[in-house]
Amino acid sequence: MKVFKFGGASLESIERIRQVGQIVQSFPDEKLLIVISAMAKTTNELEKVAENFYLRKKEIAAQLLFNIEQGHLRVAEGLLGTTEHPVFQQLQQFFTEAEWTLGEKPMRTYDYYYDQLVSLGELLSTAIVSAYFNTIGLNNEWLDVRDVFRTDDNFRDANIDWVYTQKQVTEKVVPLFNKTNIVITQGFIGSTDQNESVTLGREGSDYSAAVFANMLDAESQTIWKDVEGLKNADPKLFPNTVNIPEISYAEVIEMAYYGAQVIHPKTIKPLQNKQIPLLVKCFLDKNLPGTVIREEADTRKLPPIIVLKKNQVLLTITSKDYSFITEDKISDIYEIFHGLKIKINLMQNGAINFSCCIDNNPEKIELLIKTLHQQFKISYNEGLELLTVRYYQPAMLEELSNGHQVMLEQRSGSTIQRLWKK
Ligand code: ASP
Ligand code: MG
Repeated sequence: MKVFKFGGASLESIERIRQVGQIVQSFPDEKLLIVISAMAKTTNELEKVAENFYLRKKEIAAQLLFNIEQGHLRVAEGLLGTTEHPVFQQLQQFFTEAEWTLGEKPMRTYDYYYDQLVSLGELLSTAIVSAYFNTIGLNNEWLDVRDVFRTDDNFRDANIDWVYTQKQVTEKVVPLFNKTNIVITQGFIGSTDQNESVTLGREGSDYSAAVFANMLDAESQTIWKDVEGLKNADPKLFPNTVNIPEISYAEVIEMAYYGAQVIHPKTIKPLQNKQIPLLVKCFLDKNLPGTVIREEADTRKLPPIIVLKKNQVLLTITSKDYSFITEDKISDIYEIFHGLKIKINLMQNGAINFSCCIDNNPEKIELLIKTLHQQFKISYNEGLELLTVRYYQPAMLEELSNGHQVMLEQRSGSTIQRLWKK
């Protein structure tokens, strides 16, 4: 059994969905569990629906939902060549449920409504792809993942109940493969024990696929992308990037930690725990080598890996009365960060001060400063970028840093981080 994941970019147009069909056709007789995310930018569009609904701008929300509906119906008709197919009823049912939600008075939290509305994207895309696959001879079963992935009610970032979900996978998903070779289901979503829809965090489909791979003991997971594979830097930010043919789980976790938007950071653990390799492949040309992520990979073969995190803030916390910032104070400071769910990207401390670099989230920072202010003097600097380079070569590092004012630097073994102002 293999697990495949196709993301929004691979479902961006009728043409691309046909290409996805061709990819799957090139794996005949293979048992495939296929996890799909919402088409193109649908998740962003649904977020707008949720925002407008919550602001009680119901007409705008309804109009935006209508646009999404029209777009999906066009794609379905284009792929199926008719509007007579039963999938249109299924799509209609999903839209009707979303309209009911829009008809409610928002009494619960924003995150709850967000999940009820935004989960629609994956339901629509999988229904369409499943119907299309059946018409081109890729016989498959469509699975509502909300009957399988049980989570808590931490809406927008729900946590999977592993025991219950494993039981569902064994009892409900495994038997489907007696009937068919292909099961198509949604990434990113799940359900509480009250049958409320949840989402697992933006870009969470990679993670959904990894949970399935783990629970089905798959031989591999493949993420099909519109790029060659994992690159040593974001090609949108740096010229001359190179493909990485093989890399370890640990290295990918580090890259994600430093801010590389490669693979959803939660994806690696379920795969590592069962030693399932993760392949990143290009659906535009499946003959390209792509990237293999597994336990052992030769780091000597790795190029320098460059990650740039933009929109950073440097916060310097200084004791008001010249008392030292020792372990007890640092522990107080950490507790405050933890309480506000603020992640520290880089830190350094001196005798009476503690400096750290965090993402610029103005609301959280305001709260943070308010809280810290009682004990400390705070200064802060925004509009910074945090560069991380692993396996760096001094000359390239100087070239990258050229023209930037470095505010904080840290080196450890093969990794260097520089926080700079442009
Ligand atoms: N559709 C969701 C998102 O765009 C999940 C995913 O793409 O992985 O965030
Ligand atoms: Mg997406």
